[in-house]
Amino acid sequence: MGITGALLGDIAGSQYEFDRPRNLDWENCELYTEKCMFTDDTVMSLAIKSAVDNGIDYQSEMRRIGAYYPDCGYGGHFFQWMFCEDPKPYNSLGNGSAMRVSYIGEYYNDLEEVKREAEQTASVSHNHPEGIKGAVVTAVCVWMAKHGKTKDEIYDYVLSQYPTDKYIFSIDKGMVYLREHYSWDVTCMTSVPVAIRCFYESGSYISFIRNVFSLECDCDTLCAIGGAVAEEFYHGTGLDDDKILRHYLDDRLYNIWIGEKP
Ligand SMILES: [Mg+2]
Repeated sequence: MGITGALLGDIAGSQYEFDRPRNLDWENCELYTEKCMFTDDTVMSLAIKSAVDNGIDYQSEMRRIGAYYPDCGYGGHFFQWMFCEDPKPYNSLGNGSAMRVSYIGEYYNDLEEVKREAEQTASVSHNHPEGIKGAVVTAVCVWMAKHGKTKDEIYDYVLSQYPTDKYIFSIDKGMVYLREHYSWDVTCMTSVPVAIRCFYESGSYISFIRNVFSLECDCDTLCAIGGAVAEEFYHGTGLDDDKILRHYLDDRLYNIWIGEKP
């Protein structure tokens, strides 16, 4: 299930979101340490899962679950959206719409439904066209990975959505180039294609995570976005998902993950 890859990615990446050593030994470092924690990517991904599983609208469930975790790393505008009385979409193109959408690509079998629901999860807050595109592309990539599409098919789809004449960091830029030129950025239009590139050049879920670790980036969120795709593509993380999530999640979030009523 793709969401598991997103959660494990968020938790692994959290240790380097704000504090990444320049000389990080990304090929050999520990993936899960005492510096790791779940962040907003996990909380919102699980809120969307809970909304789908329980037939609740996205906005209500994101705000209900999210309110338990005011310190999990929300951006300033999203924090206001979370806690104000009358939330309105605020034209965001931040990568928050992409990092929370994995369950949509995993849950729905019909591709048109995936696109429509992904758009709805984004549009409650991230209603800028790039915010919506980031969610739709991520969910479609999860769906493609789950439904046996090849890496090249996923690559071609991402390239079609982020053509290189309009997007400076589309999926055509390789890891060697990105290690030198990419820098921390929280927009959908670099986070999504770069996260999928990290998947494209991986040989396993863990090597995908290490590719993200090799970049100066919004680490937890890129790990969450591409992690869902990698997990579906490789049919699992190769890690002890249950043990890791039991350790890092609280009971409320863990129970949403295993599918118990909130
Ligand atoms: Mg985060």
